[in-house]
Amino acid sequence: MERLEKDIVVIGGGPGGIAAAVTAARAGAEVLLVERNGYLGGQLGSGLPFLAFWDLKGRQVIGGFAQEFVDRLQAAGASYGHEYCPHHQSTTAVHPYYSRILCFEMVKEAGVDLLMHCELSSARTEAGQIRSVVVSGKGQRIEISADIFIDATGDGDLAVLAGAETEKGNGQGVMQPPTLMFNLGGIDFDKFCDFIEQHPEELPYDVLDNIEEGYNAEFFRRTKGFIFLGMHHMLEKLREKGECPVDRETVIFIRQPIPGEAAINTIRLLNFDGSDVRDLSNGEMEAHLQIPKLMEMFRKHVPGFENCYLASVNSSIGVRESRRVKGIKMLSHEDAVAGKRPEDTVALCGYFIDIHNGAGEGTYRVSIEEPFGIPYLCLVSKDISNLMMAGRDISVDPVTFGATRIMNVCMAAGQAAGEAAAMAVSEGKLPKEVDVQELRKHLLEQKAILDV
Ligand SMILES: Cc1cc2nc3c(=O)[nH]c(=O)nc-3n(C[C@H](O)[C@H](O)[C@H](O)COP(=O)(O)OP(=O)(O)OC[C@H]3O[C@@H](n4cnc5c(N)ncnc54)[C@H](O)[C@@H]3O)c2cc1C
Repeated sequence: MERLEKDIVVIGGGPGGIAAAVTAARAGAEVLLVERNGYLGGQLGSGLPFLAFWDLKGRQVIGGFAQEFVDRLQAAGASYGHEYCPHHQSTTAVHPYYSRILCFEMVKEAGVDLLMHCELSSARTEAGQIRSVVVSGKGQRIEISADIFIDATGDGDLAVLAGAETEKGNGQGVMQPPTLMFNLGGIDFDKFCDFIEQHPEELPYDVLDNIEEGYNAEFFRRTKGFIFLGMHHMLEKLREKGECPVDRETVIFIRQPIPGEAAINTIRLLNFDGSDVRDLSNGEMEAHLQIPKLMEMFRKHVPGFENCYLASVNSSIGVRESRRVKGIKMLSHEDAVAGKRPEDTVALCGYFIDIHNGAGEGTYRVSIEEPFGIPYLCLVSKDISNLMMAGRDISVDPVTFGATRIMNVCMAAGQAAGEAAAMAVSEGKLPKEVDVQELRKHLLEQKAILDV
């Protein structure tokens, strides 16, 4: 078996992993990033927009790596930047494929070593520390030793293999449902906006209470990368006739920075566990089979979509929620909703708590009036002293997770994990021994936002 030695190994190249790997390498560490796919970006390459760079009061709460990422996309004509949204505070549409290219650019510039098409297969742990991991792909097995390992798999795969404690979903077996993203092309958005103007009942005022005024046809006309959420009357009528193709009460789509295209975020599978390969296998099949039915529904019932065609399908189903790794600290929703920003804050989150029901219809939402801080030790495993987390598997309770799961928060936490890991390596310390005020100083120098 081939053997490698690195300072830091990051498993998973999604928003959390990219930010962690690039930040650690920029700080001078020797970093290896392992990704099972043939592209980087994770869910960022699926057509999803960034949400809530701005808080409810319109203040920017995420800067640093995530803002740099958007600036570079915008300079390349692959994003419109941040736009106001009465529902999500701000949305930032990004070109799904250009985002993947930018991830490679940034990784290359920073000098991150890459292993693509490699999946983590085991971890060797001794005396409460990971000594090495084995990754495999194409019949090759590679063992990698490092000082610090960062789990950015989204699903806590490394933590589980290393024997660290994790928590799944809401603790009672329910996890937010997955969605396979796909893009439709050939859409006449002007016609769609005219339809919404004539049918305001298709907007979601009566089912959701945290949408500010102004979520209307005029907003959709004005906003280049809007998110549409609605059509519940249409779905209700189709359900009455037994013709509703999906187990949910609204349609969501995102207007893409690609002419005539929308990314459809509407497929739903219930009672699904994204960390179980049987559920994933069945889920990929069921999700793909929903696409033609949904296309048919759009063509037949949604003005502006009559001539739509299937432009692309994301490479795999998007898992909203599975495992989180238990950290030395766990952020509670009481602290999140209270907008607490403790002294050891290393990233902010101003997005509302947004929990899609994994066992039926409905979405649970709670506004975040003041952005809350993510404490540093939510990024450090309580069980394995050289294991850190970046992305959606950080240590927060299941309700707080409804807010921290968004991609720019994953990047902000990833940036903090990467910087802290590099500091620990250069100072010969464990992650829990890193001076948090010094870490915050470094993050502020990198234009991270830690208070408002
Ligand atoms: C359908 C859906 C809609 C969403 N809507 C939005 C939205 O509109 N805006 C928003 O900001 N957020 C949204 N989210 C949430 C957000 O996309 C995710 O929470 C976020 O991408 C998590 O980032 P991550 O880096 O932790 O994980 P991911 O983006 O999942 O990336 C994890 C990476 O790790 C790799 N990986 C996983 N396991 C292994 C392994 N064992 N070995 C090697 N590599 C591995 C994966 O291939 C992937 O590249 C949505 C999520 C879903 C699923």
